Order: sequence, then structure tokens, then C-alpha cells
Amino acid sequence: MARVYAIASAKGGVGKTTTTANLGTVLAMAGHEVVVIDGDLGMPNLAGALGVDPDGATLHDVLNDDVDIKSAIYEGPAGLDVVPGSNALEAFARTDAKGLEAAVDQLDDYDVVIVDTGAGLSNDTFVPLKFADDVVLVTTTEREALGDTEKTRQLAERIGASIVGAVLTRVDESNPNAEVVASILDAGVVAVVPEDPAIRDALDSQVPVVLRTPDSISAAGYRALAEALTGEP
Ligand code: ADP
Ligand code: MG
Repeated sequence: MARVYAIASAKGGVGKTTTTANLGTVLAMAGHEVVVIDGDLGMPNLAGALGVDPDGATLHDVLNDDVDIKSAIYEGPAGLDVVPGSNALEAFARTDAKGLEAAVDQLDDYDVVIVDTGAGLSNDTFVPLKFADDVVLVTTTEREALGDTEKTRQLAERIGASIVGAVLTRVDESNPNAEVVASILDAGVVAVVPEDPAIRDALDSQVPVVLRTPDSISAAGYRALAEALTGEP
């Protein structure tokens, strides 16, 4: 039985895709069978973060044309498998996320399935919240991002999702303290990923930071996240 995580926040640009790529890579490096899925149907950029260049079927083909999700799996770093999305505007225009649960059900041979999601509270972000075993919220500590992420948390709670807690990203000394975070976001903090220039460098090189710069502070944050989720050191 695969454990299915949804990586979520209504706010864009807070680190959901970076978190999906690095969490998946850490777990794959630890020997787990892991697949990451680009559930951001409008702005899919997970494949790019992992150096995967899809030359065949994508998740959009799976959802639009009943293509088997297993034929949309590409090899990423460290043995991580990746289901990318299509960047074609017309693919997005005719895509409905409702087939995603049935597609993910086909991936039961894996130990872990991680679904990256888009911003907003639209159907394609809502669907993975519903079928995931665990929802991992991702947010920066800006008030606006915390507020938007709290909305995602409330939506997840309303539909009975299990919320693991929040990953705080891009944290530096000028960020608000834990009390401010807790006053806006009603979720525990599972890991903190500091603001780190190594993340930009990793994105530019299309290699996740946990592989590109394993001794960086952000890589340490992502290893701590993996440990918090699995209970394994
Ligand atoms: P989302 O998927 O939530 O839209 P991304 O993972 O694409 O967010 O990240 C948005 C931007 O934030 C990226 O361009 C990345 O460079 C930057 N970023 C994310 N995490 C960090 C970090 N810990 N330190 C510095 N920059 C970061
Ligand atoms: Mg993203």
C-alpha cells in the first residue's frame, strides 16, 4: 500500500514544488520506492526541478485520454520516479482533475506517492486533498501566505483530510516568530526550511538541492521533513 501525500497551499510561490522534489528525492535516496506527481495542472514545473524532460505521455494525457499513468512515468534523480504535466496551454484547457484519484490508485506498488498541487482552491487542488492519506501544508511566514495556507487547512479539515502539519519555507531571522505563525495558521510545524541561495542554484541546474548541495541549510531542512514524516532517521 502506497502512502499518499498531498503537498498543498493556496498561495503560489511558497515552495510546494521545491518541497515535493526534495522530499521525494530524500525518500528515494533512503531506499523507498517513490513517485512524485505534478498535480499543478496549470503551471506544471515539477519535472524541471528534477531535470526530467518529458518526451512522451504526461499526466494531462492520463487525465484527458485515459492513457495509463504507468506510461507517463519518467526516471528522475536517485531512483525517484516522476509523472510530469504538459506545458501546452490547450492540454490544460481541456483537463479535469477528477480522474486523478483513479490514476493514483494504479501506483499502489510504490511505498510513497507525493502529489504536488497548484495554488488557489480550485478543483485540481481540492481533488488531491480528498484522496491523500496525509496533507502537508507548505508556507512562508509572510502573513498573506500564512492566511492563504490557513484557508487550505480549513478546506482540508472540512473534507475530512488528515493534515500532518506545515513546512515553513524561506525562513530567516527577520521572519515573524512562532507565536505569530501559530496565531494565523492552526497547524503544527513539521519542518523549517531556511531561506537559502542554494535553492535557486539547484533550480537553475535542475538538480534538487538535497543532491546538488547536500551540506546546505535547506537540504538539512528537507531531510528533517522526511524524518518527521516517516519517523526514520
Ligand atoms: P510553489 O510550488 O509553491 O509555487 P516553488 O517551489 O516553485 O513554489 O518555489 C517558488 C520560488 O521560491 C522558487 O523560484 C524558488 O527559487 C524559491 N524558493 C523556494 N524555497 C526557497 C528557499 N528555501 N530559499 C530560497 N528560495 C526558495
Ligand atoms: Mg509549484
